[in-house]
Amino acid sequence: MKIGVPKEIKSNENRVAMTPAGVMMLTQAGHKVKVESGAGNGSGISDQVYKDAGAIIVPSPDEAWAQELVVKVKEPQPSEFSLFRKDQLLFTYMHLAAEKEVADALIQAETTGIAYETVQGKYGDLPLLTPMSEIAGRMSIQSGVHFLEKTHGGKGVLASGVPGVSPANVVIVGGGIVGTNAAKMAIGLGANVTILDINIQRLRELEDLFQGKIRTLASNKYNLMEKVKKADLVVGAVLIPGAKAPKLVTEEMIQSMEPGSVVVDVAVDQGGSIETVDRVTTHQDPVYVKHGILHYAVANIPGAVSRTATYSLTNMTAPYVLRLANQGFEKTMQSDPNFARGINTYKGKVVHEAVANALGYPY
Ligand code: NAD
Repeated sequence: MKIGVPKEIKSNENRVAMTPAGVMMLTQAGHKVKVESGAGNGSGISDQVYKDAGAIIVPSPDEAWAQELVVKVKEPQPSEFSLFRKDQLLFTYMHLAAEKEVADALIQAETTGIAYETVQGKYGDLPLLTPMSEIAGRMSIQSGVHFLEKTHGGKGVLASGVPGVSPANVVIVGGGIVGTNAAKMAIGLGANVTILDINIQRLRELEDLFQGKIRTLASNKYNLMEKVKKADLVVGAVLIPGAKAPKLVTEEMIQSMEPGSVVVDVAVDQGGSIETVDRVTTHQDPVYVKHGILHYAVANIPGAVSRTATYSLTNMTAPYVLRLANQGFEKTMQSDPNFARGINTYKGKVVHEAVANALGYPY
């Protein structure tokens, strides 16, 4: 199969959809990979390194997009819509429920759109979303403790404390992928960590995993009020699949915190789980202050660590790309209904039920 890897053009997007390892894997299996010149720059991968792995470097996006299978990271931008074709497979993050104009452009061009975020694993998990949640969870603590420093606007607390002085209280709401990875970092720094979740079975697993290094609590309003009040850093990490995030940390709870404390709402991409998170922030201007509390609400946290994110994402996507290339679209999708859940647009229609419902389109 002929595969194209365009350079990402969304603002501040430095990831790339394929590494030299992916290129080598595909070319050795007999496929042709065309990588747009400069596509890997933001992740520290030069054209020469791609070439050495077997890629053909093409000067323009048009040539990368002209291939049978186009592999990307972010949803296409308006300037890319004219490059959509009927006989094209597009494999990327799409978030069509929130990107109506991308959906409409794909429908109009009759492009087959396979979205990373709806491909399912064997256990109903989302294997192509997990790597980004791992990164966002770890980064939530790295960024959160940065802003706890006085010189960055925070209350001036060191996460670990020192002998004779207590460590910071870190409260993580939601003990899934993001929450678990946040906990790993916070424990590593020596903070005092509490995780709240409504799923008690998940809390059991976390207790076993962390062997007494964290406290777990059932997530309810009373417990949240108690814990948030005493927190130095709160991480919002909840997800109700397919729905907007519930506003679990209320404005009143935020007002009860000590000035200079920090909240990091990782769930901001799903509308946010903290009531006072009323906007999405960017890596250029990541925090704002409300009721004396620093609010961090960046929606594309992994973008800050593009090299790690590129390798982490492509570790997961490359085997899917290889299967598509080896077996072709029809055979791959017929043989793997979980992969087929990734198909969002096909023959001019939205064919994913939740996405169609969210857009108000017939299914
Ligand atoms: P996950 O499904 O692995 O975990 C979510 C957890 O929230 C589950 O354990 C669930 O039981 C728990 N939960 C649900 N309702 C709750 C409640 N009322 N109280 C406490 N816990 C509750 O999801 P994840 O992969 O960890 O993702 C978490 C969020 O982070 C999602 O909104 C995701 O979109 C977001 N995310 C954001 C970024 C970013 O850059 N901002 C990156 C990756 C993921």
